Amino acid sequence: MSAQPPVISIVCPCFNEQESVGLFIDTMLPELEKTELSFEIIFINDGSRDNTLSTLKDLQKHHAGIRVINLARNFGKEAALTAGIDLSKGQVIVPIDVDLQDPPELIHDFIREWNNGYDVVVAKRVDRTSDSFAKKLSAELFYKFHNRISHVKIPVNVGDYRLMTRRVVSAIQQMPENQRFMKGIFSWVGFKTKIVEYKRDPRIAGETSFNGWKLWNFALEGITSFSTAPLRIWLYIGLAISTLAFVYGSAIVIKTLLFGIDAPGYASLITIMLFLGGVQLIGLGVLGEYIGRLFMESKRRPIYIVEEDN
Ligand code: UDP
Ligand code: MG
Repeated sequence: MSAQPPVISIVCPCFNEQESVGLFIDTMLPELEKTELSFEIIFINDGSRDNTLSTLKDLQKHHAGIRVINLARNFGKEAALTAGIDLSKGQVIVPIDVDLQDPPELIHDFIREWNNGYDVVVAKRVDRTSDSFAKKLSAELFYKFHNRISHVKIPVNVGDYRLMTRRVVSAIQQMPENQRFMKGIFSWVGFKTKIVEYKRDPRIAGETSFNGWKLWNFALEGITSFSTAPLRIWLYIGLAISTLAFVYGSAIVIKTLLFGIDAPGYASLITIMLFLGGVQLIGLGVLGEYIGRLFMESKRRPIYIVEEDN
């Protein structure tokens, strides 16, 4: 690599991607060469349990402009992405998945819009036919719910694939939080943003590591990182239930005064008790969710640990 810092930094988190990295290089490199700008491709090996690291090191021997950052263990995609962004040197930074679900040729649109004066160019999936029905539905529900309750709106169907200028990255680096919901973090910083559309392809090889439970936790992370609505809603639920209880209680008192005591209703009593018990537990659960995050955040641990960078 030359001493001059590159213009473009491609940032690519990899977790068990030994089949994909080679293909990725074969598709990405020609596109980058077409731009005629200097570049670096940063692979972050996020504690892969297969031969991703050795494959990457092999590729590095055959191609110029490749950096391999090895994290000390699996820190998760968001942390890996943060590591790559922190260590990138380019004037513009492009995070991209290694599975080629995001088409590398979009880089030309990114650069065009950057030259038009945009600080952020995001890629929006217009066609998600390659994703399963459940994934599409859950993604849609998530975006709707998140954007309704959170001040920071994340654009629908926009992933991490985007171009950001150095000043956007500097802004992101001022966000010290440990729990990194990157979509939210990217949106939070703002800047002049352009959306370009594309069709999302199926994975070229390997398997997605985001399924069911993991996606659910990811969604929880997103919502609790950028909104306190789930905490505040309990005030209103409590108010509503107390009001109802008061009205119902008054009705019972009046009825008793006027007509004497009824036979006690076991069924209604137990139903109300169980219902309220459940409601309280949900409230506690939501509290717990936030307290857990506060706890993790208060430890101030580093987001990732780099084992080697070369
Ligand atoms: N990834 C990672 N660490 C993880 C899980 C995933 O670095 O713990 C990387 C993975 O190698 C890929 C990207 O994150 O480059 C997106 O993962 P995946 O394709 O599994 O997610 P999906 O596209 O299904 O949302
Ligand atoms: Mg993928």
